[in-house]
Amino acid sequence: MSISFEIEGLESYIDEVIEAEAVWATALIEKEIAILRAGGLSDEGIRLRLQADFDAKGPIFGQIENNIKGHVAGLITAASAQAQEDVYQDAGIDTDLRQWVTVNRGTDKVCPDCPSRHGQIERLIDWQDIGLPGSGWSVCGPHDECILVLVETEVGEIVSVP
Ligand SMILES: [Zn+2]
Repeated sequence: MSISFEIEGLESYIDEVIEAEAVWATALIEKEIAILRAGGLSDEGIRLRLQADFDAKGPIFGQIENNIKGHVAGLITAASAQAQEDVYQDAGIDTDLRQWVTVNRGTDKVCPDCPSRHGQIERLIDWQDIGLPGSGWSVCGPHDECILVLVETEVGEIVSVP
């Protein structure tokens, strides 16, 4: 059995995500314009409202920005995990078992979901089913800092990094 991580063509996924994000953002803005127009605002009124939302990162543009940030964070996590698996493969590691290491970045951002997985061991293919770090399975979603390591790695306590 191959231990390859099977995230093929990560670059094309990134393109797809960015494209989908642009389509979604356009639809969101068009919807807001329609709502404002239905509410009786003039074109200038709509322009001013959208500009104010953009400047303040309000409900419309704040949401767009948060979505893009979240997805980019998730893609970086995926790319990092892929690189780690490549290192394992190059080193001739022939086990597909991976151990979950829960990482809390800062003390104020403890995800309620991740600690229960700390030290859990599954095959890589099973982690892909139940949720890789940062894949969106947990409350922390794409901001997940957790990692999968080789089973031989001494895991110890939950890792907190500043
Ligand atoms: Zn986590």
